[in-house]
Amino acid sequence: MTDDELERYARHLILREIGGQGQAKLRNARVLSIGVGGLGSPLLLYLAAAGVGTLGIVDDDIVSLSNLQRQVLFTSQSVGKLKTETAKQTLSGLNDGVAIQVFNERIVPENALSICGDYDLVCDGSDNFDTRYLVNQTCAELGIPLIAGAIGQWDGQLSVYAPHLNAPCYACVFPERPEADVAATCAEAGVVGALPGIVGSMMAMEAIKHITGAGDSLAGRLWIYDALSAETRTLKVSRRADCEMCSRYG
Ligand SMILES: [Zn+2]
Repeated sequence: MTDDELERYARHLILREIGGQGQAKLRNARVLSIGVGGLGSPLLLYLAAAGVGTLGIVDDDIVSLSNLQRQVLFTSQSVGKLKTETAKQTLSGLNDGVAIQVFNERIVPENALSICGDYDLVCDGSDNFDTRYLVNQTCAELGIPLIAGAIGQWDGQLSVYAPHLNAPCYACVFPERPEADVAATCAEAGVVGALPGIVGSMMAMEAIKHITGAGDSLAGRLWIYDALSAETRTLKVSRRADCEMCSRYG
């Protein structure tokens, strides 16, 4: 580690659970973010700041003015620009020791395996169920752990899905895909701006824990947050024997 790195990561290096070994694991880690919006913004900011060596970002969207209420990677000057390229610029400014790979496309069945297969950990902050089930299926097939967060108007949830480690996959926990009209997006239903900040930061926390081995993972547990009541709950969740997406793990 260089002198600059020793200073940059000083607050990690003195933590018993991270230390020099954990910091080296962070530097060697390759993490993919599906989407760079409300959840992807804090997720990527904290992972870049933490020194995750390689970050991938998949998104084909352009920054709009209505994104700025919650997508904290972007500024007024970003409006009209590609989210991936804008995010890359900001994240490189935050930490030039991080390699940032961008994919200016949507994740679809044709590219999912090749994009995800290049990473050790996938974080899904996408806003639609097609993407969520596809990313889950891809990670289950490849044996890559998946940290998936989701938000409603005032509530959020998060888990680490890892059927190859005997934890459930996303489809074990959510076997029924909601009807299109029930699954409203932020644009249709609204969302309070600080909420993706909380859930996206929790995703970053679980990623850092997973990479360094600190503490107890949320694998096998679903974390639920209700902002209006300021209550959190953690439910035990388990593999479903008849789950098609992760049946290969027995
Ligand atoms: Zn499953």
